[in-house]
Amino acid sequence: MNKNIFPRVGTEAHISVIVPAFNEEAAIVSTIHTIVDRLKQLSENWEIIVIDDGSRDQTANIVRNLPESLRTTLVRFSRNFGKEYAITAGLEYATGNVVICMDADGQHSSELLAQMLEKWREGYDMVYAYRQDRDVESRFKRWGSRIFYRAISLGGQIHIPRDAGDFRLMDRQVVNALLSLPERNRFMKGIYAWVGYHSIGIPFIPLPRSHGESAFSKLKLIQLAWTGVTSFSVMPLRLASAVGALLALLSFTYGMYVVVDHMFFDESVPGWPTIIASMMFFAGVQLLFIGILGEYLSRIYDEVKGRPPYIVAEVLKPKVITQHQ
Ligand code: UDP
Ligand code: MG
Repeated sequence: MNKNIFPRVGTEAHISVIVPAFNEEAAIVSTIHTIVDRLKQLSENWEIIVIDDGSRDQTANIVRNLPESLRTTLVRFSRNFGKEYAITAGLEYATGNVVICMDADGQHSSELLAQMLEKWREGYDMVYAYRQDRDVESRFKRWGSRIFYRAISLGGQIHIPRDAGDFRLMDRQVVNALLSLPERNRFMKGIYAWVGYHSIGIPFIPLPRSHGESAFSKLKLIQLAWTGVTSFSVMPLRLASAVGALLALLSFTYGMYVVVDHMFFDESVPGWPTIIASMMFFAGVQLLFIGILGEYLSRIYDEVKGRPPYIVAEVLKPKVITQHQ
């Protein structure tokens, strides 16, 4: 056991569960009930915060009309900003000293909550659930994630635990640290790792989605992975420099060879095809790396604009606050 962690004895857990929801009308009620049933066994003090991420269905209305006894706050975005931002907003509105993030579709088993809380009592500041069984997922997701973790750990200074998602418990200290980061670009997996603190993982097997389909298409996953790599690693830029240096060296050597060949052996140098081929090749490489440079530039552009990361259209708290009584 880590010697630097101290058990939290006598500290009461005020649990906030944040639930990002995008078009989850079919699942949200049963998910909240399941979570609440579990929370009641764990603490007197708990609350739920649902962030409606611009759903186009009845999600917000359903949450608005939930009974007070479910102690659910609704935070409704003005449009769909994405899960990463919904979580950020959830952290902002959570009031507890223990904050847990769970999906609205019921894939994150509430059975883990007790285990997570136990780890928190032992003194860990962050307890993340990692998927143990990736077999149920498509080959694309499995290989994609493998390549992603490889790529991001190559150039980054932080260690992102594999297969860990957003299903996690965080101590208030961690939440405050996360909220103190000024960046608008919210790649949560990287940010969780960046803030540090004592973390521990517990394995879990995701339940099947109770209704509907995953909102993350292949394209969205690739975009998210690319955002992750460019916000947490300068590896693509280093790669550009390395490839540039290597190509320069190769062409210099080849140039020397041509000169020597021509001067001492009087060979005539066959021109056309080589020139065209190499021009095309170098132009391609240059464009590719200008593109990568552009990606970093666009990250900077996004940050410099200074827009708020999301816009909240409505906050509805349960009227009777049974908490803290
Ligand atoms: N979600 C969200 N905004 C989005 C997409 C998804 O808040 O733009 C929520 C969604 O309602 C769910 C969670 O994020 O609670 C995970 O989404 P999903 O189940 O579609 O993804 P997967 O389980 O495949 O990771
Ligand atoms: Mg899901």
